Amino acid sequence: MMSVSLSAHSWTKVHAMPSEPYLQERELRRRAREEIESGRLPKSLTASIWGGRGSGLPCAVCGDHIQSDRVEYEIDDPRGGEPFRFHPTCHTVWQLEGALHPSGSHDTACHC
Ligand SMILES: [Zn+2]
Repeated sequence: MMSVSLSAHSWTKVHAMPSEPYLQERELRRRAREEIESGRLPKSLTASIWGGRGSGLPCAVCGDHIQSDRVEYEIDDPRGGEPFRFHPTCHTVWQLEGALHPSGSHDTACHC
């Protein structure tokens, strides 16, 4: 008769949540919106998104340098300028903010 002991497995469940260098999401969203409203970041998504290792250059949303041990998203500037670089989290926030605040629906007179 076989005896299987599941408890022989010692599961070491590590919650891999290192201290995130990213800002709080709310703060990130505020920054992303500011970047969009000021025109530094485009509202709409562009066709080409490149993923890769961090280049060490600053993120377009949070301004932190994207280290080489992190993933970096790079997006061509539709206006032909320098490409934008994002942390994955920051890229998501930017997408959300761009989608939530479509072009022309809000102006400075609207405080809703
Ligand atoms: Zn970032």
